[in-house]
Amino acid sequence: MAFELPDLPYSRDALAPTISEETLNFHYGKHHKGYVDKLNKGVEGTEYEGMELEEIIRKAEGGIFNNAAQVWNHTFYWHSMSPNGGGKPNGKLGELIDRDFGGYDGFVTAFKDKGGSQFGSGWAWLVQKADGTLDVTNTLNAHTPVEDQDVTPLMTMDVWEHAYYLDYQNARPSYMNGFLENLVNWDFAESNLN
Ligand code: MN
Repeated sequence: MAFELPDLPYSRDALAPTISEETLNFHYGKHHKGYVDKLNKGVEGTEYEGMELEEIIRKAEGGIFNNAAQVWNHTFYWHSMSPNGGGKPNGKLGELIDRDFGGYDGFVTAFKDKGGSQFGSGWAWLVQKADGTLDVTNTLNAHTPVEDQDVTPLMTMDVWEHAYYLDYQNARPSYMNGFLENLVNWDFAESNLN
């Protein structure tokens, strides 16, 4: 069974004006699709053919790893956003963020620091550690918390330039502010808690 590009959980214009339809046409329609197509080509006739995506991520290296991880990361990223998202989380997740970051503002500062300090291409993540506490982290290029089975990703923000360049050019902080204020899907993040 070949990997398929999963449907977006909303229409391509649903995240505008924070993220434009044009960005999703490229980011989802070209970049994410490209990773799926290259992964399918790459695994053909190898030990990875027919393997689950997470298993490929934990076992493969080089191009197969890169494409498998980027397929997983992008699917997770689309679900980490919602047209009705943004702002401060409530409920269980809100309580954990207050406990582990000293409040929502502490989380925002820490998360934007991870996103802003990721040099070059990568990802910023909210994760839950094996002891149940929340943490923020960043990963380079295609790297992903999925590689570490002790860490549970809750939500992610793509900080590759292709995620924001059409809308914000080089102003990554403006994109990060828009992501947190208007898009982050706390219901999805909470659903990923252990
Ligand atoms: Mn991307």
